[in-house]
Amino acid sequence: MTTIGKDENDAKENPVIVLFRHDLRLADNRALYAAAQTGKPVITVFIRDEETSKSVRPLGGARQWWLHHSLVSLTRSLAKLDQKLILRKGATQAIVRNLLDDTKADMVLWNRRYDPAGIEVDTALKAELLERKITAESFDGHLLHEPYKLKTGAGGYYRVFTPFWRACLNGPEPRNPVPEPKKLRNWSSDITSDELDDWALLPTKPDWAKGFDENWTPGEEGAREKLSDFLDDRVPSYKNGRDIPGTEATSRLSPHLAHGEITPFQIWHASKSPAIKDQNGGLDTFLKEVGWREFSYHLLFNNPKLHTENFNKSFDGFEWSRKVSHFDAWKQGNTGYPIVDAGMRQLWQTGWMHNRVRMIAASFLIKHLLIDWRKGEEWFWDTLVDADPASNAASWQWVAGSGADAAPYFRVFNPIIQGEKFDPNGRYVRQFIPILKDLPDKYLHKPWTAPAATLKAANIDLGKDYPEPIVEHGTARNRALEAYSRMRD
Ligand SMILES: Cc1cc2nc3c(=O)[nH]c(=O)nc-3n(C[C@H](O)[C@H](O)[C@H](O)COP(=O)(O)OP(=O)(O)OC[C@H]3O[C@@H](n4cnc5c(N)ncnc54)[C@H](O)[C@@H]3O)c2cc1C
Repeated sequence: MTTIGKDENDAKENPVIVLFRHDLRLADNRALYAAAQTGKPVITVFIRDEETSKSVRPLGGARQWWLHHSLVSLTRSLAKLDQKLILRKGATQAIVRNLLDDTKADMVLWNRRYDPAGIEVDTALKAELLERKITAESFDGHLLHEPYKLKTGAGGYYRVFTPFWRACLNGPEPRNPVPEPKKLRNWSSDITSDELDDWALLPTKPDWAKGFDENWTPGEEGAREKLSDFLDDRVPSYKNGRDIPGTEATSRLSPHLAHGEITPFQIWHASKSPAIKDQNGGLDTFLKEVGWREFSYHLLFNNPKLHTENFNKSFDGFEWSRKVSHFDAWKQGNTGYPIVDAGMRQLWQTGWMHNRVRMIAASFLIKHLLIDWRKGEEWFWDTLVDADPASNAASWQWVAGSGADAAPYFRVFNPIIQGEKFDPNGRYVRQFIPILKDLPDKYLHKPWTAPAATLKAANIDLGKDYPEPIVEHGTARNRALEAYSRMRD
């Protein structure tokens, strides 16, 4: 622990505490903005609470890496406003209680969360603060549409995306983003803070995150750049290009959104700016994808166990395979199907995977290997820098067929056809599986069909340098369909 702030406390007024969690930004941060507006001294605190709620899901390794760098960036930005970010780990209520006792703060502000643990912690905190006659206020920011406000005509929640998104679009225009505070009054008394390095968020032995540095700039600045790169250059090709993993056609905003370095309100209004033309329907498609994120939260809010329980209960009786060697081969990108393996290797090397390939790789695990979607969801939770409690669970259930508005179970992606269709020139596969780089396009997505001489010319010893398929597509497909029929019976 270090002590922050050495001066005497000469503040005349009680300070206001702003809690940071997954809203690691200054701009469009309504809690921080409201604190600045009070004119009171401000205390900014990041609380890492993995103990209050039983439903808390500790961050996976990849998100811990991101969190470290994002906190460094936030600390730097706050320092420009002469603000210190206090770091604390533990139970939120106890930490806030301590801070209130130490500083005589009379107001606590934060931005709302929508995951079950976040809701539980914040509800309990609010109740305690109100009882103590401390002003407690929460704000929107993480979602354009408050999930508890959106209701179907019958008064329930939406289970299908299209009417959900139509209702969002027909509702009031999302509010304008609030600006970054120009000034924050500083609270100068001593407040103890943890040292970020003591939290050991970065991997060391081994340092598996080397490839992350080359791909990402965690923090608000990095998020802004990603949005302007996308809006300046990629809109015209987004609608078709978003399915091609070998091109950089998408925004790559997902980890920034997961950590709240940018808000959907900022994205929405920047996209709607008259300077941005919706060429080729790119913007509408992009905002619709942001809508899928909203829909996932709508589902999570109404189904707090979305990552552990089948949305469609008929899947409860599904006979999943427990074959560890298959699960390991999938995790390591050694299934023998290049498009799946390239995806899993991209995930391991960069902490991110292209959406189209996420669908193919998830489908392969669930349908070709018959491994429970929850195992895949957990692996993604640990390895994705954008691992998100709503989008990850909802997307896995979508692929499995057990989710709301899900892909039908009988739609089994053929990894060879998917590879040939979406990575026709093999750019993606060659980038992440360089051993296959000299294999002609014709065989790239099915190397086991290449003649021995072709493999030899490409310097590939199949089975040694790159695996043979761990299951045969046709056989696996039939097995999946049979398992599905048994479940339905
Ligand atoms: C099995 C599986 C697991 C997934 N897990 C996650 C996850 O943990 N976190 C996550 O953010 N996304 C997840 N997705 C959704 C999607 O793959 C990513 O949001 C997308 O690839 C992020 O890249 P991007 O920012 O370049 O997206 P863009 O195409 O630029 O889209 C813009 C934004 O829209 C949102 N978005 C796009 N597609 C989806 C989608 N299908 N569902 C929900 N939101 C979407 C994201 O916030 C994204 O940043 C998952 C998809 C699948 C199939």
